[in-house]
Parts: sequence; structure tokens; C-alpha cells
Amino acid sequence: MALSLNLSPSTVLVTGASRGLGLEFVKQFLKLPVPPKILIAGCRNPNTAESLKNIANANPSVKVIKLDVQKDEDIERASQETKSIVGDLGLNLLINNAGILDRDTGSLIATTRESLQKHFDVNVTSPIIVVQKFLPLLNQASALIKSNELSASKACIVMISAALGSQKLIADGTFAHANWTPYNCSKTALNMATIMISREVRDSGILVIGLHPGWVRTDMGTDEAPIGPEESIADCLKVISEAREESNGRQLDLKGKVLPF
Ligand code: NDP
Repeated sequence: MALSLNLSPSTVLVTGASRGLGLEFVKQFLKLPVPPKILIAGCRNPNTAESLKNIANANPSVKVIKLDVQKDEDIERASQETKSIVGDLGLNLLINNAGILDRDTGSLIATTRESLQKHFDVNVTSPIIVVQKFLPLLNQASALIKSNELSASKACIVMISAALGSQKLIADGTFAHANWTPYNCSKTALNMATIMISREVRDSGILVIGLHPGWVRTDMGTDEAPIGPEESIADCLKVISEAREESNGRQLDLKGKVLPF
């Protein structure tokens, strides 16, 4: 079924598209009334990403590229590859989705320096570097659209964050069960990165939002989660399609509610 949304970026890049929410983003972008002309799906191991490969085989607009967000050489090569694929169009929409959560090293007792550094590397450092390297392509896409209105159809960066990164919600005890210090701290830092980047690129006409996709049944979210990827991403796309200036730098949940920092 086609999603009836006012969202028509010509070019899109999704990181972490091999499975879970990243893969679902790819599936649902293809169902938009005006699907992207070019939909780039970044994943660590294109050779083993079977679902993604099947989608790409059936949809010429989908280009699968190797992108381990922890590797600078991958980010550099992926940005060059993307540049040659999108040509004059630039990049309208970057979805920084790749992320990790290791529950086993979540508590103070169980955590390690290695786990803390890995969560920060994948969940904070990497999305910032990805934005840095793809910024010229976002600028290019933004400059092509005359309207000054910020929107995901013009130029937009979506940081897939988590309500667990909200200091207020954690301090309130809203998520008392989720004692995952490395993950929660990394998402808090990602939220700050969202604010900082949104300020820096505002004058280039690029919208930057953080987005909490809900607690979702994926490998990360586990089977205990209340909603599936289809429902989560349908809602996320609606939020992305409606985001404008007032959402810039903010954290939204999948219903479009602004989350406290
Ligand atoms: P999954 O664990 O199901 O999938 C994670 C994805 O990230 C995989 O495609 C994985 O690739 C990719 N990934 C991990 N490390 C890297 C890396 N170094 N380079 C490139 N890709 C990488 O998680 P979800 O789909 O559930 O999560 C997606 C995002 O949503 C994350 O940012 C997460 O924090 C956020 N989120 C999820 C929630 C949930 O309940 N599911 C709740 C709130 C936020 P590979 O297959 O190669 O391992």
C-alpha cells in the first residue's frame, strides 16, 4: 500500500540498512507516492545483506553501498560513491540510523571502557563524521530548491536517537528498567550533536532533527517490544514529512511529540 505523505526527496541515504529499522526505512521509501529517484542503502556487509540485495535487484533506484560507520575509509569512499551516483541532485535526506545497544554491558558493574567507547563511537562519533562527510552533498541539494522553508524534501538530516537519551525522562524514572549506561549516555550525546549541527547548517537551509522510533521489535528492541518496524517507520516517515523550522534541533518521538532533553 502506498503511503500518502507529502514527502518527496529525490535522493536519500539510510545507514545501517541491512536489517531492523534501517531496512524498513528502505522498504517504506519505495512505497511513497513519489519514491526517491535514488535510494542509497548503506550497510557493513553488502554481500551478506540478503533482504537488501533482493530489494535492490527488484528496484533499480536502490543502490547498496558498503558503509561501516566506524571506518573513516568507508565513510570517505561511500561519500565519493554517493556523489557519483546522485550527480547534480546532491543528497536531500540523510537518515543516520545505524546504532548499537549491548544490554550485557549496560550496568555500572558490568560495563567496560571498551563497551563505553564502542557505544560512543557507533552512536555519536560516527553519525557526526557521516554528516561532516556528506554535508557538501546536502548543501548541493539544498541550493537546488529555491524555497527557504526547511523540510525533508529540500535537505534534511535525521538522527535516529532514543527516548532513553532524554535526561529528564530518565531522571523522572520513566524508563526505570532500562539501565544501560553506555547506550543511554551515547544517545544523550547524540541529542547534543543534533542541536549543535542544526545551528551550524541552518543557514544552508538544512533541517536537522532527532527522532525516537518507539520501542520496536527488532534485534535491538527484542520480541518484547510493543510495536513492529512497519508501524514505527510509517509513523517516523509521517513525522519526517511534517518537520519544519520549529522542529529544527529538537528530539521528536514517532508521534511527532517533542521530547525533553
Ligand atoms: P538493530 O540492532 O536491529 O539494527 C542495527 C543496524 O545498525 C543494523 O543494520 C546494523 O548492521 C547497523 N550497524 C551497527 N553497527 C554499525 C556500523 N558500525 N556501521 C554500519 N551499520 C551498523 O537495531 P534497530 O534497527 O532497532 O535500531 C536502529 C536505530 O534505532 C538505532 O540507532 C537504535 O538506537 C534506534 N532505536 C531503536 C529502538 C528499538 O526499540 N528497536 C528504540 C529506540 C531507538 P549489521 O547488520 O551489519 O550489524
